[in-house]
Amino acid sequence: MKITDVITHQLLCDVQTPFTSSRGWWYKTKGAMVVEIVTDEGLIGWGDCYGPASVAKSVVDSLLKPSLIGRDPFDVEVLWEALYNKVKDYGLTGMTISGISGVDIALWDIIGKATGKPIHKLIGGAFRTDLTAYATGLYFTDMSRLTETAVEEALGYKAQGFPAVKMKIGLGSMKKDLARIEAVRDAIGGEMLLMVDANHCYNVPQAIQIGREMEKLGIHWFEEPVSPEDLDGYAEVSQALDMQVAGGENEFTKFSFREIINRRAMDIVQPDVCAAGGITECKKIAALAQAHWVQCVPHAWGTAIGLAATMHFLASLPECPPCLVPQPPMLEYEQTYNPFREELGGDVFSHQKGVVKVPTGPGLGIEINREILDRFKVA
Ligand SMILES: [Mg+2]
Repeated sequence: MKITDVITHQLLCDVQTPFTSSRGWWYKTKGAMVVEIVTDEGLIGWGDCYGPASVAKSVVDSLLKPSLIGRDPFDVEVLWEALYNKVKDYGLTGMTISGISGVDIALWDIIGKATGKPIHKLIGGAFRTDLTAYATGLYFTDMSRLTETAVEEALGYKAQGFPAVKMKIGLGSMKKDLARIEAVRDAIGGEMLLMVDANHCYNVPQAIQIGREMEKLGIHWFEEPVSPEDLDGYAEVSQALDMQVAGGENEFTKFSFREIINRRAMDIVQPDVCAAGGITECKKIAALAQAHWVQCVPHAWGTAIGLAATMHFLASLPECPPCLVPQPPMLEYEQTYNPFREELGGDVFSHQKGVVKVPTGPGLGIEINREILDRFKVA
């Protein structure tokens, strides 16, 4: 089989309610970059690249596509190395790895379709076919009703049966953050897991100080307490706190994660399959993590394609550590309106009390709705 074409689809939609996090930029639109790889046998594979869509499109079109035409999709790791070695001299880790990630996912989709197997069967099998999902939401929307809206939203997820919820923090005042976390904790009760995501808005002493207070509220993990460049800071925060420190959504390739894991800078690493290097690279990152007894719980914020790829990857992760009552890695299930997640791949992701079934069809196990692709395509 040979690759005959690589087509990129840059998508854009309006969001229903503009929102922000501690990063401070307001999301009024959502973008996505979908990769379509076409073969001479008529099989098509789909991939998803994380990050600014126009940049990812340029990376795939100009840098990666020329190296893929005429190649066999089954040579997925050979192609990964070829693409990586083509871009590494330019210091272009980041968005170039995002491009490679989308290509890698599309290649696995083709391999699955060619063999009639879901991707998880090709990467070691499923340790679990039901994934426990946690709801990601509680962004900052109405700045005059921050606590009220967070409580209302969290109670909505509880009513839907989600066993866990992740909220955004980072309001520029520890007092405000803690009051809002406490209100959510009080509202949902002690049984439901509650995670917080600071999107790296604190420095080390602030992170440790708020972390100690959050430990009293039974917060399950503290995501991105400090800036991703500050690995020493991450290690300090992790050592100072009893609670789990998570991060890694903005890290790329096994080489970045090697440093994080070697230095025990995080208790939970969160590679994104659409950013960190695709399924091929994330399996290696997960193996590095397992070898150091660090949990791998992937970040997910993409389209139906990215979500499906994440689910196959999650299915293939062994328990860490294996035991009578293990804590399987949870699926991040973002809850803001996103037609690229909800409509692009059909209705395969609906959850029952926070449990989502891993797709079982060939490849990613989803059918792409071209009408949605055409409706939102801007380039
Ligand atoms: Mg995050």
